[in-house]
Amino acid sequence: MKNVFCIGELLIDFVAEKQGSDLSKANNFTKKAGGAPANVASAIAKLGGKSFFIGCVGKDPFGTFLINTLTEGQVDVSLSQRSDTFTTLAFVSIAEDGERDFVFSRGADKELKYDRRLSKLFKDQIVHFGAATSFLGGHLEEAYSLYLQEAVSNNSFISFDPNFRADLWKGTEAIFVQKCIPFIEKSHLCKFSLEEAQLLSGKENLEEACAFLHKLGSKIITITLGGEGTYLSTPAVKKIIPSIKVSPIDTTGAGDAFIGCLLKQIALTTNLDTLTSGSEPLENMVQQANKAGAITTTNYGAIESLPTQQQLNQL
Ligand code: ATP
Repeated sequence: MKNVFCIGELLIDFVAEKQGSDLSKANNFTKKAGGAPANVASAIAKLGGKSFFIGCVGKDPFGTFLINTLTEGQVDVSLSQRSDTFTTLAFVSIAEDGERDFVFSRGADKELKYDRRLSKLFKDQIVHFGAATSFLGGHLEEAYSLYLQEAVSNNSFISFDPNFRADLWKGTEAIFVQKCIPFIEKSHLCKFSLEEAQLLSGKENLEEACAFLHKLGSKIITITLGGEGTYLSTPAVKKIIPSIKVSPIDTTGAGDAFIGCLLKQIALTTNLDTLTSGSEPLENMVQQANKAGAITTTNYGAIESLPTQQQLNQL
């Protein structure tokens, strides 16, 4: 089984306790571990895969809580860093329909420094770039570009999720798109939401968006469509794999559970060419990943809602 290296942010999500209220009305918050690439690493580890999280938190109690949370979840954090800058904090409220209202205060995640020793660890393994805050400057952005080059030169299977946050890129969306392009060009697998696929391609239509994004470089594209399922696009298949019927209460982390479950299965695949040459193996993997996303919506929070392999088998 291949190792999966997930690079990017790890932060505290302060989740408003009262349901159905936006942040302006929320008074009480619960502290939870968050950050898309950290969630992905946790999803992989919970399903029995081997994942590393590479990111930076503060040398404060929140940073300690985050590192402990990942460690308890069997994620290898030995390549992560601690900084004197305060841990990054996000504040999240869940509206009645399960969607999020969210603001964040950036801190230590941007301090991740490039570590040249990692290069040889990437050899023939999987490297997942779950961008989110990684294009917002700081050492992290510099490290991101360098790790992309290392992944390419070490024959890694490269996975990319832009994790676009509209609030953070108001009026500067074109810059975000430019920063994503090298990652789409070099990735074997890209995971987008519909909004992201449309933004990155400039095309409204799903098939046209995928055609454009394939041309940039990515062979496998998954577009997650919430309760509708996932659109899978490869040279061999273009179709929606329907989702599993559940009663969602909080969609936080569904996309991360999805890509984590997909990467865990790819980590077990010995001949990666089979992923794009035929349709069946990848369709089955996406079906499993849809289950992981669905289960995650049935509980509050991201990491605590991630499924075990047993839960996936039972669904
Ligand atoms: P996030 O922003 O949390 O990363 P996302 O927008 O990337 O999420 P979603 O489309 O919300 O991802 O969800 C990912 C996957 O989880 C979907 O493709 C689907 O398989 C599953 N899923 C999400 N919402 C539901 C739902 N309401 N019912 C069933 N399955 C769901």
